[in-house]
Amino acid sequence: MIEVSPDIKFKKQLKRISNSSLNECMQCGTCSVVCSLAPDERPFPRKEMIWAGWGMKDKLIGNPDIWLCHQCGDCSTYCPRGVKPADVLSAVREISYQHYAKPKFLGKILNDPKWFPVAILIPVIIISAILIMAGTFQIPEGPVNYSKFFPHAWLNSSFSFLWFLTIGLGILGLRNFRNDMKKQDPDLKPTGSFIKNLFSIRKEIILHSNFSTCTAQKTRKIAHFLVFYGFILLLFVTTFAIYAAVTHNYPLEFKNPFKIIGNIAAIMLFVGLGIMIANRIFNKKDFGNSTYNDWLFLVSLFLLTVSGVIVEAARFINWGLAYHLYFFHLVCVWFVIIYLPYTKFGHLLFRVVAMVYAASINRKLK
Ligand code: SF4
Ligand code: SF4
Repeated sequence: MIEVSPDIKFKKQLKRISNSSLNECMQCGTCSVVCSLAPDERPFPRKEMIWAGWGMKDKLIGNPDIWLCHQCGDCSTYCPRGVKPADVLSAVREISYQHYAKPKFLGKILNDPKWFPVAILIPVIIISAILIMAGTFQIPEGPVNYSKFFPHAWLNSSFSFLWFLTIGLGILGLRNFRNDMKKQDPDLKPTGSFIKNLFSIRKEIILHSNFSTCTAQKTRKIAHFLVFYGFILLLFVTTFAIYAAVTHNYPLEFKNPFKIIGNIAAIMLFVGLGIMIANRIFNKKDFGNSTYNDWLFLVSLFLLTVSGVIVEAARFINWGLAYHLYFFHLVCVWFVIIYLPYTKFGHLLFRVVAMVYAASINRKLK
């Protein structure tokens, strides 16, 4: 016997974000049949669609299957009622970023367009305050040298502090998410350590093999692959840049291998994000509903990439606007990094935790 306690507010939110007519689902099960990832036992997304129709927030929010879905869109393509289950699952993921946000207000301002000015102002104020404390909040004289504007010691220490703070707050939210997954079915006893289960899903993470089965969105895997590895390469190069700044070898020469890797990462991000943005604009039929959260993630990462390339070029040609662009680039970087657990970028963390949990209860995808 299942006790049903509908959350009408949640259901309305789900309908608004997914743009789906939830109640028209007739539970035919076609979506679960065509889903190439759904396990044979308790497949998704048919059961999620009935929970969505009933507004059963607790069942949906702490459900690992929401994250095992890779949003290929095949279920929406074949749904005879046009209910768009892929968009409904995507909307649940979006609500999860707010639900597990620590602190809560960051989840709120990152997922509601009316708070966008505040979301932008926070990194602007933090960066400006650091520059004022460093005594460098002015345009330096002479050839462009960004360290005169934002001294490396200030940049590296503040960036590292905020990065570790973000990861710490993200872990608090993910811990609650993991506890909710455990509560879903208390009879299932997870086995193995987090590291052991993470190792067992290495192929899916490294090769993105779960994206290979998409039929409606064939370019999804390559775009995701380019953005994922482009961002990891950028993080790697940024870590080296912090080290180089400490050892006084900064800025790097154009031919420096790390500079070349950084530029390759930028090209990968540019192409991957370009494909994602083009698909959302020109192929709405297969790529489904695009929400504020989708655009915030894509546009902020795209602006970070493009402004990074322009800032690099501006230094080489000593452009008069170099420092203004550098400030804009820093705002983009900090926006993406400090808001990672609260925007769609958070799927990086949530999906891995859900996949690890699924491995621990031996829930295997097809
Ligand atoms: S979402 Fe569509 S395909 Fe899935 S059960 Fe409902 S009507 Fe059938
Ligand atoms: S979007 Fe794709 S992976 Fe997700 S439930 Fe639908 S068919 Fe399955």
